[in-house]
Amino acid sequence: MTAAPTPPRSVTVRAPAKVNLELRVGALRPDGYHDLATVFQAVSLYDEVSVARWDEWQVVPGGTYADRVPTGTGNLAIRAAKLISEQWDIDDVLSIHIDKDIPVAGGMAGGSADAAAALLACDHLWGLGLERDELAELAAELGSDVPFPLAGGNAMGSGRGEQLAPVLARGTFHWVFAISDTGLSTPEVYRELDRLRSADGGDARDPAHSADVSSELMAALRRGDAQALGKALHNDLDEAAFSLRPELRVLRDAGVEFGALGGLVSGSGPTVAFLTESHEASLDLSVSLAASDLCRDIRRARGPVHGAHVVSGSRPD
Ligand code: ATP
Repeated sequence: MTAAPTPPRSVTVRAPAKVNLELRVGALRPDGYHDLATVFQAVSLYDEVSVARWDEWQVVPGGTYADRVPTGTGNLAIRAAKLISEQWDIDDVLSIHIDKDIPVAGGMAGGSADAAAALLACDHLWGLGLERDELAELAAELGSDVPFPLAGGNAMGSGRGEQLAPVLARGTFHWVFAISDTGLSTPEVYRELDRLRSADGGDARDPAHSADVSSELMAALRRGDAQALGKALHNDLDEAAFSLRPELRVLRDAGVEFGALGGLVSGSGPTVAFLTESHEASLDLSVSLAASDLCRDIRRARGPVHGAHVVSGSRPD
Protein backbone atom coordinates (compact mmCIF):
# COMPACT_ATOMS: atom_id res chain seq x y z
CA MET A 1 0.00 0.00 0.00
CA THR A 2 1.42 3.42 -0.90
CA ALA A 3 1.07 6.31 1.56
CA ALA A 4 -1.15 9.26 0.56
CA PRO A 5 0.99 12.13 -0.78
CA THR A 6 1.85 14.76 1.83
CA PRO A 7 0.11 18.04 1.01
CA PRO A 8 2.48 20.91 0.19
CA ARG A 9 3.04 23.55 2.85
CA SER A 10 3.01 26.39 0.35
CA VAL A 11 2.40 26.68 -3.37
CA THR A 12 3.63 29.34 -5.79
CA VAL A 13 1.92 30.00 -9.11
CA ARG A 14 3.08 32.35 -11.84
CA ALA A 15 0.47 34.07 -14.04
CA PRO A 16 0.98 36.33 -17.07
CA ALA A 17 -0.26 39.80 -18.03
CA LYS A 18 -2.30 40.26 -21.20
CA VAL A 19 -2.55 42.68 -24.04
CA ASN A 20 -5.69 43.02 -26.14
CA LEU A 21 -4.61 42.82 -29.78
CA GLU A 22 -8.09 43.89 -30.76
CA LEU A 23 -10.95 45.13 -28.60
CA ARG A 24 -14.34 45.82 -30.16
CA VAL A 25 -17.01 47.28 -27.94
CA GLY A 26 -20.65 46.72 -28.90
CA ALA A 27 -23.61 48.96 -28.17
CA LEU A 28 -24.49 50.01 -24.63
CA ARG A 29 -26.95 47.39 -23.33
CA PRO A 30 -30.00 48.16 -21.15
CA ASP A 31 -28.14 46.63 -18.16
CA GLY A 32 -25.34 49.18 -18.56
CA TYR A 33 -22.78 46.69 -19.93
CA HIS A 34 -21.41 46.28 -23.45
CA ASP A 35 -20.84 43.13 -25.46
CA LEU A 36 -17.19 42.74 -26.27
CA ALA A 37 -15.19 40.90 -28.86
CA THR A 38 -11.52 40.78 -28.13
CA VAL A 39 -8.34 38.89 -28.92
CA PHE A 40 -6.05 38.43 -25.95
CA GLN A 41 -2.38 37.60 -26.02
CA ALA A 42 -0.56 36.55 -22.83
CA VAL A 43 2.79 38.34 -22.47
CA SER A 44 5.91 37.65 -20.43
CA LEU A 45 5.29 39.98 -17.50
CA TYR A 46 4.35 37.85 -14.52
CA ASP A 47 3.00 38.04 -11.01
CA GLU A 48 3.87 35.21 -8.63
CA VAL A 49 1.29 34.31 -6.01
CA SER A 50 2.23 32.06 -3.07
CA VAL A 51 -0.33 30.65 -0.68
CA ALA A 52 0.36 29.11 2.74
CA ARG A 53 -1.81 28.24 5.74
CA TRP A 54 -1.78 30.99 8.34
CA ASP A 55 -3.74 32.17 11.38
CA GLU A 56 -5.47 35.11 9.68
CA TRP A 57 -6.22 36.12 6.11
CA GLN A 58 -3.51 38.40 4.84
CA VAL A 59 -1.94 39.69 1.62
CA VAL A 60 1.77 40.36 1.69
CA PRO A 61 2.88 42.35 -1.38
CA GLY A 62 6.39 42.28 -2.81
CA GLY A 63 8.11 42.96 -6.14
CA THR A 64 8.28 45.92 -8.54
CA TYR A 65 4.81 47.35 -7.88
CA ALA A 66 4.34 46.17 -4.25
CA ASP A 67 3.29 49.62 -3.03
CA ARG A 68 0.23 49.64 -5.32
CA VAL A 69 -1.22 46.27 -4.31
CA PRO A 70 -4.34 46.55 -2.12
CA THR A 71 -3.92 44.40 1.01
CA GLY A 72 -7.55 44.30 2.19
CA THR A 73 -10.23 41.71 1.54
CA GLY A 74 -11.00 43.37 -1.82
CA ASN A 75 -7.76 41.97 -3.21
CA LEU A 76 -8.77 39.63 -6.03
CA ALA A 77 -6.35 36.92 -4.87
CA ILE A 78 -8.03 36.76 -1.44
CA ARG A 79 -11.46 36.74 -3.09
CA ALA A 80 -10.35 33.85 -5.29
CA ALA A 81 -8.99 31.82 -2.34
CA LYS A 82 -12.15 32.45 -0.30
CA LEU A 83 -14.37 31.43 -3.21
CA ILE A 84 -12.66 28.04 -3.42
CA SER A 85 -12.55 27.54 0.37
CA GLU A 86 -16.28 28.29 0.67
CA GLN A 87 -17.32 26.05 -2.22
CA TRP A 88 -15.23 23.10 -0.96
CA ASP A 89 -15.94 23.74 2.73
CA ILE A 90 -12.32 24.20 3.69
CA ASP A 91 -11.61 25.89 7.02
CA ASP A 92 -8.01 26.91 6.30
CA VAL A 93 -7.02 30.54 6.48
CA LEU A 94 -4.23 31.70 4.17
CA SER A 95 -1.38 34.10 3.89
CA ILE A 96 -1.06 35.17 0.25
CA HIS A 97 2.21 36.62 -0.95
CA ILE A 98 1.98 38.54 -4.25
CA ASP A 99 5.20 39.28 -6.09
CA LYS A 100 3.90 42.07 -8.33
CA ASP A 101 5.64 42.61 -11.65
CA ILE A 102 2.52 43.39 -13.72
CA PRO A 103 1.79 47.13 -13.75
CA VAL A 104 -1.22 47.94 -11.53
CA ALA A 105 -4.37 49.51 -13.04
CA GLY A 106 -2.63 49.61 -16.42
CA GLY A 107 -5.11 47.61 -18.52
CA MET A 108 -2.91 44.50 -18.33
CA ALA A 109 -5.23 42.54 -16.02
CA GLY A 110 -2.74 42.16 -13.17
CA GLY A 111 -5.43 41.77 -10.51
CA SER A 112 -7.11 39.14 -12.67
CA ALA A 113 -3.78 37.32 -13.12
CA ASP A 114 -3.44 37.21 -9.32
CA ALA A 115 -6.95 35.80 -8.98
CA ALA A 116 -6.21 33.12 -11.58
CA ALA A 117 -2.92 32.29 -9.85
CA ALA A 118 -4.60 32.08 -6.44
CA LEU A 119 -7.25 29.66 -7.79
CA LEU A 120 -4.60 27.32 -9.17
CA ALA A 121 -2.40 27.65 -6.06
CA CYS A 122 -5.30 26.79 -3.73
CA ASP A 123 -6.28 23.85 -5.93
CA HIS A 124 -2.75 22.45 -5.42
CA LEU A 125 -2.43 23.39 -1.74
CA TRP A 126 -5.68 21.64 -0.91
CA GLY A 127 -5.15 18.75 -3.35
CA LEU A 128 -8.54 19.29 -5.02
CA GLY A 129 -7.43 18.19 -8.48
CA LEU A 130 -9.81 20.55 -10.28
CA GLU A 131 -10.04 20.34 -14.05
CA ARG A 132 -9.10 23.41 -16.10
CA ASP A 133 -12.74 24.00 -17.06
CA GLU A 134 -13.82 23.90 -13.39
CA LEU A 135 -11.14 26.48 -12.60
CA ALA A 136 -12.27 28.56 -15.58
CA GLU A 137 -15.84 28.57 -14.26
CA LEU A 138 -14.68 29.83 -10.87
CA ALA A 139 -12.50 32.38 -12.65
CA ALA A 140 -15.48 33.77 -14.60
CA GLU A 141 -17.36 34.24 -11.29
CA LEU A 142 -14.52 36.46 -10.07
CA GLY A 143 -14.34 38.74 -13.11
CA SER A 144 -14.52 38.75 -16.88
CA ASP A 145 -10.72 39.08 -17.28
CA VAL A 146 -9.86 36.19 -14.90
CA PRO A 147 -10.32 33.14 -17.19
CA PHE A 148 -7.75 34.32 -19.75
CA PRO A 149 -4.61 34.34 -17.52
CA LEU A 150 -5.47 30.76 -16.57
CA ALA A 151 -5.51 29.77 -20.24
CA GLY A 152 -2.71 31.98 -21.62
CA GLY A 153 -1.55 31.85 -25.27
CA ASN A 154 -3.86 33.67 -27.67
CA ALA A 155 -7.62 33.56 -27.29
CA MET A 156 -10.73 35.26 -28.52
CA GLY A 157 -12.99 36.56 -25.77
CA SER A 158 -16.68 37.28 -26.19
CA GLY A 159 -19.62 38.14 -23.94
CA ARG A 160 -17.95 40.40 -21.40
CA GLY A 161 -14.60 38.91 -22.44
CA GLU A 162 -14.90 35.80 -20.26
CA GLN A 163 -16.08 33.32 -22.92
CA LEU A 164 -12.84 32.13 -24.47
CA ALA A 165 -12.02 30.31 -27.68
CA PRO A 166 -8.43 29.47 -28.64
CA VAL A 167 -6.90 31.31 -31.59
CA LEU A 168 -4.41 29.73 -33.97
CA ALA A 169 -1.13 31.61 -34.07
CA ARG A 170 2.50 31.01 -34.89
CA GLY A 171 5.71 32.72 -33.88
CA THR A 172 6.66 35.08 -31.11
CA PHE A 173 5.83 38.79 -31.01
CA HIS A 174 7.93 41.46 -29.31
CA TRP A 175 6.23 44.18 -27.29
CA VAL A 176 7.16 47.42 -25.58
CA PHE A 177 4.79 48.71 -22.90
CA ALA A 178 4.83 52.38 -21.94
CA ILE A 179 3.50 52.67 -18.42
CA SER A 180 1.85 55.73 -16.89
CA ASP A 181 2.12 57.01 -13.36
CA THR A 182 -1.56 56.95 -12.54
CA GLY A 183 -4.18 54.39 -13.50
CA LEU A 184 -7.36 54.92 -15.52
CA SER A 185 -10.65 53.65 -14.14
CA THR A 186 -12.19 51.04 -16.48
CA PRO A 187 -15.84 52.18 -15.88
CA GLU A 188 -14.80 55.79 -16.51
CA VAL A 189 -13.24 54.85 -19.87
CA TYR A 190 -16.42 53.00 -20.96
CA ARG A 191 -18.56 55.98 -19.86
CA GLU A 192 -16.34 58.25 -21.95
CA LEU A 193 -16.74 55.94 -24.96
CA ASP A 194 -20.54 56.13 -24.58
CA ARG A 195 -20.33 59.89 -24.23
CA LEU A 196 -18.23 60.21 -27.41
CA ARG A 197 -20.59 57.88 -29.30
CA SER A 198 -23.61 59.93 -28.18
CA ALA A 199 -22.05 63.26 -29.09
CA ASP A 200 -23.17 64.92 -32.33
CA GLY A 201 -26.52 63.14 -32.35
CA GLY A 202 -25.11 59.58 -32.25
CA ASP A 203 -26.41 56.88 -29.91
CA ALA A 204 -24.27 54.68 -27.65
CA ARG A 205 -27.07 52.05 -27.88
CA ASP A 206 -26.96 51.95 -31.70
CA PRO A 207 -26.65 48.25 -32.69
CA ALA A 208 -24.31 49.35 -35.49
CA HIS A 209 -21.57 49.44 -32.80
CA SER A 210 -20.67 45.85 -33.46
CA ALA A 211 -18.51 43.54 -31.39
CA ASP A 212 -16.76 41.51 -34.09
CA VAL A 213 -13.04 40.95 -34.50
CA SER A 214 -11.45 41.47 -37.91
CA SER A 215 -10.36 38.68 -40.23
CA GLU A 216 -7.12 40.63 -40.96
CA LEU A 217 -5.97 40.25 -37.37
CA MET A 218 -6.74 36.52 -37.28
CA ALA A 219 -4.90 35.99 -40.57
CA ALA A 220 -1.86 37.95 -39.32
CA LEU A 221 -1.71 35.76 -36.19
CA ARG A 222 -2.08 32.55 -38.20
CA ARG A 223 0.84 33.59 -40.43
CA GLY A 224 2.96 34.93 -37.54
CA ASP A 225 3.20 38.15 -39.58
CA ALA A 226 4.24 40.97 -37.23
CA GLN A 227 3.96 43.68 -39.93
CA ALA A 228 0.35 42.74 -40.70
CA LEU A 229 -0.48 42.34 -37.02
CA GLY A 230 0.88 45.83 -36.34
CA LYS A 231 -1.52 47.23 -38.94
CA ALA A 232 -4.47 45.23 -37.62
CA LEU A 233 -4.11 46.20 -33.93
CA HIS A 234 -7.30 47.99 -32.88
CA ASN A 235 -8.91 49.15 -29.66
CA ASP A 236 -12.34 50.85 -29.64
CA LEU A 237 -11.36 52.34 -26.25
CA ASP A 238 -8.36 54.23 -27.67
CA GLU A 239 -10.33 57.41 -28.41
CA ALA A 240 -12.01 57.37 -24.97
CA ALA A 241 -8.65 56.95 -23.22
CA PHE A 242 -7.11 59.70 -25.42
CA SER A 243 -10.04 61.99 -24.64
CA LEU A 244 -9.48 61.52 -20.88
CA ARG A 245 -5.67 61.65 -21.20
CA PRO A 246 -4.58 63.52 -24.36
CA GLU A 247 -0.92 62.80 -23.55
CA LEU A 248 -1.55 59.11 -24.33
CA ARG A 249 -2.23 59.96 -27.98
CA VAL A 250 1.05 61.88 -28.11
CA LEU A 251 2.79 58.84 -26.62
CA ARG A 252 1.15 56.40 -29.10
CA ASP A 253 2.05 58.62 -32.08
CA ALA A 254 5.64 59.03 -30.85
CA GLY A 255 6.11 55.26 -30.51
CA VAL A 256 4.87 54.68 -34.07
CA GLU A 257 7.14 57.46 -35.33
CA PHE A 258 10.08 55.80 -33.51
CA GLY A 259 9.48 52.65 -35.56
CA ALA A 260 6.82 50.52 -33.85
CA LEU A 261 4.76 48.37 -36.23
CA GLY A 262 1.64 49.53 -34.41
CA GLY A 263 0.55 50.97 -31.10
CA LEU A 264 -2.64 50.96 -29.06
CA VAL A 265 -3.96 51.45 -25.58
CA SER A 266 -3.85 48.17 -23.67
CA GLY A 267 -7.41 47.29 -22.57
CA SER A 268 -8.86 50.35 -20.88
CA GLY A 269 -5.40 51.86 -20.45
CA PRO A 270 -3.44 53.83 -19.58
CA THR A 271 -0.58 51.51 -20.63
CA VAL A 272 0.24 51.98 -24.32
CA ALA A 273 1.41 48.80 -26.07
CA PHE A 274 3.74 48.86 -29.08
CA LEU A 275 4.40 45.90 -31.35
CA THR A 276 7.92 45.75 -32.79
CA GLU A 277 9.61 43.74 -35.53
CA SER A 278 12.14 41.90 -33.36
CA HIS A 279 13.80 41.71 -29.96
CA GLU A 280 16.44 44.25 -31.16
CA ALA A 281 13.73 46.61 -32.43
CA SER A 282 12.03 46.45 -29.04
CA LEU A 283 15.31 47.48 -27.37
CA ASP A 284 15.70 50.41 -29.79
CA LEU A 285 12.13 51.55 -29.23
CA SER A 286 12.57 51.38 -25.44
CA VAL A 287 15.62 53.62 -25.67
CA SER A 288 13.82 56.17 -27.89
CA LEU A 289 10.76 56.25 -25.62
CA ALA A 290 12.91 56.63 -22.51
CA ALA A 291 14.76 59.54 -24.11
CA SER A 292 11.46 61.19 -25.08
CA ASP A 293 10.37 61.47 -21.44
CA LEU A 294 6.75 60.73 -22.44
CA CYS A 295 6.19 57.90 -19.95
CA ARG A 296 7.27 56.90 -16.46
CA ASP A 297 8.28 53.33 -16.99
CA ILE A 298 8.99 51.09 -19.98
CA ARG A 299 8.75 47.29 -20.01
CA ARG A 300 9.55 44.84 -22.76
CA ALA A 301 7.87 41.46 -23.13
CA ARG A 302 7.22 38.71 -25.64
CA GLY A 303 4.04 36.88 -26.41
CA PRO A 304 2.29 34.56 -26.51
CA VAL A 305 3.30 32.77 -23.30
CA HIS A 306 1.66 30.02 -21.24
CA GLY A 307 -1.11 30.67 -18.76
CA ALA A 308 -0.94 30.28 -14.96
CA HIS A 309 1.31 27.42 -13.85
CA VAL A 310 2.72 26.07 -10.62
CA VAL A 311 6.38 27.01 -10.15
CA SER A 312 6.92 25.48 -6.71
CA GLY A 313 5.15 23.67 -3.96
CA SER A 314 7.21 23.10 -0.83
CA ARG A 315 6.35 20.06 1.30
CA PRO A 316 6.66 19.83 5.09
CA ASP A 317 10.16 18.84 6.30
P1 ATP B 1 -8.05 45.19 -16.37
O1 ATP B 1 -7.07 45.14 -17.49
O2 ATP B 1 -8.61 43.82 -16.00
O3 ATP B 1 -9.10 46.24 -16.49
P2 ATP B 1 -6.06 46.56 -14.86
O4 ATP B 1 -4.81 45.91 -15.31
O5 ATP B 1 -6.42 47.87 -15.46
O6 ATP B 1 -7.25 45.54 -15.03
P3 ATP B 1 -5.44 45.85 -12.20
O7 ATP B 1 -3.96 45.91 -12.09
O8 ATP B 1 -6.08 44.52 -12.26
O9 ATP B 1 -5.98 46.78 -13.35
O10 ATP B 1 -6.01 46.69 -10.96
C1 ATP B 1 -7.27 47.34 -10.99
C2 ATP B 1 -7.69 47.61 -9.55
O11 ATP B 1 -7.98 46.36 -8.94
C3 ATP B 1 -6.59 48.24 -8.73
O12 ATP B 1 -6.71 49.62 -8.70
C4 ATP B 1 -6.75 47.61 -7.36
O13 ATP B 1 -7.34 48.48 -6.44
C5 ATP B 1 -7.68 46.41 -7.56
N1 ATP B 1 -7.04 45.12 -7.21
C6 ATP B 1 -7.64 44.12 -6.55
N2 ATP B 1 -6.80 43.07 -6.40
C7 ATP B 1 -5.65 43.40 -6.98
C8 ATP B 1 -4.41 42.73 -7.13
N3 ATP B 1 -4.21 41.50 -6.67
N4 ATP B 1 -3.44 43.37 -7.80
C9 ATP B 1 -3.65 44.62 -8.28
N5 ATP B 1 -4.79 45.30 -8.14
C10 ATP B 1 -5.79 44.70 -7.50
